[in-house]
Amino acid sequence: MKKLVMLLSLLLFLPACSLIDEAVQRNVASEPSYRSLSANYLKEDVAKVDLPYCWLAQCLQQGELTLKNIRKSHGNLSEHVTIYRTNEKHEELAYFMTEEGKLNNIAIESEHWNYNSKHERTATAIWDLWNDIIPDPYHQVDKLYLFQGGDFAAYVNMYNMRVELGVNIKHNQDQKQLTTTLVHEFGHILTLNQEQFTEDRYTSDQQELECPAYFDEWSDCPNQESYLYSFYNKFWKKIETEWKKKKIETSEARQTAFYNKYRSQFVSEYATTSPVEDIAESFQYFIFSPKPTNLSSIKSQKIAFFYEYPELVAIRADVLARVEKRF
Ligand SMILES: [Zn+2]
Repeated sequence: MKKLVMLLSLLLFLPACSLIDEAVQRNVASEPSYRSLSANYLKEDVAKVDLPYCWLAQCLQQGELTLKNIRKSHGNLSEHVTIYRTNEKHEELAYFMTEEGKLNNIAIESEHWNYNSKHERTATAIWDLWNDIIPDPYHQVDKLYLFQGGDFAAYVNMYNMRVELGVNIKHNQDQKQLTTTLVHEFGHILTLNQEQFTEDRYTSDQQELECPAYFDEWSDCPNQESYLYSFYNKFWKKIETEWKKKKIETSEARQTAFYNKYRSQFVSEYATTSPVEDIAESFQYFIFSPKPTNLSSIKSQKIAFFYEYPELVAIRADVLARVEKRF
């Protein structure tokens, strides 16, 4: 039976140099493919790309400078992530379809959903922020859901090349908080899109037995070139047995205990939830933290992990410049 990739997330930006090669954009328009896009983002030789695009060293430098400016004016955005522990159930409010990058502002609501017209303005504000801070090729979200209550701040569903984004309006009222949440979700889109996985994704329970890497029940088996495959092999193999035995994924109290035991390994408490959440959280810290110089802790190695991919260094510079412009 086909499964949806359902990612519950707890959380949440270069105009000085626009990094997206026009040829790449055309490819994406005809065939949305997140991984080939990110692989082509600055593939081969970054130095071939002329300004206003940036070379790898420039992207890195640009990212660091922009981050400094953002931190000076707005503080550390990574810290805007909060773990919500409420006893409320989450409540769906409405969803909005998108068409050619535009939000259709007619809310589709269920009679049981507690929707009112002010949610339309909220949806527009979320959609505008998403488009302002996330690089153009990754805007493609087919449906935007609004919900409130519960203990997670946002989610993405990805299936059949479609992306749905859900945002908890109660936990994202502040622009900084929402920005951090959206960058975390962008981390999911980069690491969990179709091309990061084996071709026969969703097809066989046998796959779990055959999967040479971390197997996630929602997202199946990442291929050997995927970000998640490398991240898992580097950072999770030693700790996974204990993590599984203690059933960390299923209990927030156990996540707190696990985080307190392994603070040097995780960027946040929520990152202990699973390798999928760890990589999205670490990506969010990669975007909003200076490049680590001291790699003695595993959590700093997790942030440094993303610098091994030139396309991600470019994406970081792009996102940060967008955030600076937007804020
Ligand atoms: Zn998440």
